[in-house]
Amino acid sequence: MKDSCGRDINYMRISITDRCDLRCRYCMPAEGIEKLPMNRILTYEEILRVCGAAAELGVNRFKVTGGEPLVRKGCTDFVRALKALPGVEQVTMTSNGQRLISSINDLKAAGLDGLNISLDSLQEDRYRYITGGGDLSKTLRAIDESAGAGIRTKVNCLLQKQFNEDEIRDFARLAFHKGIDVRFIEIMPVGFGNPEAGVPNDDVLAALRKEYPQLTRDGRPHGNGPAVYYHLPGQDGAVGLISAMHHSFCGSCNRVRLTSQGLLKPCLCYEEGVDLRPALKEGQQALRKTLEEAIRSKPAGHTFHDRSSVETRAMSQIGG
Ligand code: SAM
Repeated sequence: MKDSCGRDINYMRISITDRCDLRCRYCMPAEGIEKLPMNRILTYEEILRVCGAAAELGVNRFKVTGGEPLVRKGCTDFVRALKALPGVEQVTMTSNGQRLISSINDLKAAGLDGLNISLDSLQEDRYRYITGGGDLSKTLRAIDESAGAGIRTKVNCLLQKQFNEDEIRDFARLAFHKGIDVRFIEIMPVGFGNPEAGVPNDDVLAALRKEYPQLTRDGRPHGNGPAVYYHLPGQDGAVGLISAMHHSFCGSCNRVRLTSQGLLKPCLCYEEGVDLRPALKEGQQALRKTLEEAIRSKPAGHTFHDRSSVETRAMSQIGG
């Protein structure tokens, strides 16, 4: 369906849990987050009802996120049920990769269409530091197994100055050697994210061009999002730039977000959203009407730069 700015809204990120098995410093620091009690989290049945209503409105692509989605029991069965809903064309997931290895084949059998794997460093000690204790080898293996199982696999890397900006070339190599997409995401002022620490994607592109003078804009379709891709002609794999801060792409934004508590967020930037729980109690027609109004009210753009109205929830509570 179209929002009031005429944008076609066909994509929903669904956070199924606020819990995570990592503690990425800019996302969910160990000291910072209170867990929601399970009775405040939507049940899978409720989430499926929201997705069903959304699909009736033309939202046909869903990304399962969290927290870490695989921390919630029954995640694979949820993916299967979501994929089977009428009108649903695509179900993908974003994960930190720590628990993926044992689930990849089941997720594929459940119909998962793609996996985004978050990875901020290719160096063991840095990875452990930024994630608050993560095991790099598990995530690297998950990337290989996911791609090897034939699931469309993308790596998402968030660069920060004086931390991992010297790894741009290593991440590009990962993309070109493994034939997968690696995307660099600019850090946003959401939750604990400090954009001053971020690396502008123009700088990333300059570094890539220096290393790969033959780098070319990649016009092939890569997915649903705002990434701009570059590749080496004749090779699989690409690097993508998601420039939320330095090149606003709000004019073509196609997405809304559902938090694990049942808040429909039309825009990542703003705290405001529509609580779907009352409508869930009323029935499917009320739910569809509430969703429709919420989607129509999507703001024209973010205001991350002047910080006049920004989200104060942690990214782990929203789903990224
Ligand atoms: N646990 C899953 C994962 O790691 O992909 C899903 C949730 S995580 C919140 C989703 C993505 O949000 C991660 O790639 C993370 O790097 C990104 N993220 C978290 N805080 C951010 C921020 N302030 N700005 C930009 N991206 C952020």
